[in-house]
Amino acid sequence: MSRFGLIAAALIVLLLIGFASIVRVTGPGWSGSGGGTTGPKLAKGAPYTGQLLIPVQGVAASALHDDWSEPRGDGTRVHHAIDIMAARGTPVLAAADGRIEKLFQSNLGGTTIYERSADGGTVFYYAHLDHYAPTLVEGQAVKAGQEIAAVGSTGDADAGAPHLHFEIHAMTPGERWWQGSEVDPYPVLAKR
Ligand SMILES: [Zn+2]
Repeated sequence: MSRFGLIAAALIVLLLIGFASIVRVTGPGWSGSGGGTTGPKLAKGAPYTGQLLIPVQGVAASALHDDWSEPRGDGTRVHHAIDIMAARGTPVLAAADGRIEKLFQSNLGGTTIYERSADGGTVFYYAHLDHYAPTLVEGQAVKAGQEIAAVGSTGDADAGAPHLHFEIHAMTPGERWWQGSEVDPYPVLAKR
């Protein structure tokens, strides 16, 4: 190939790369979210407006405790979650329709689940699980109320006080399972 040919080929490659990056930035942000025009929409920091089930079987709204602002880690962080106390082995239920995005072993959270909402805009995080439901796998679609795990005390939870640590994360387009911004679950679950 002549020098001119090489330069022309390089320019074409650069143009194609530039075009691809523009398409990626301006194209649809959610991957695999199935359209997502009907679910609740979340802005960063906005309260969650969708309907959620209390994700532990047999727990009433009146039994929930607002511990969003409590210190954790000897005051090095704020809880930004809700702890739902229950006996070890109590079924943990999907709070909403969605898809199991990640099954993760964490030092603090222990055995955990990250579930992406059906519209892609929210991630629900379930931690300190004793074990997963036997057939649970990443990528699996789940329905609100479906048993996905059991309450436990894995990670840094007190073995004498098993509970579900539950978080809601508002996701902006393109954010991955470990990202998002925390939304207070208590007003949503307690319907206050
Ligand atoms: Zn917690």
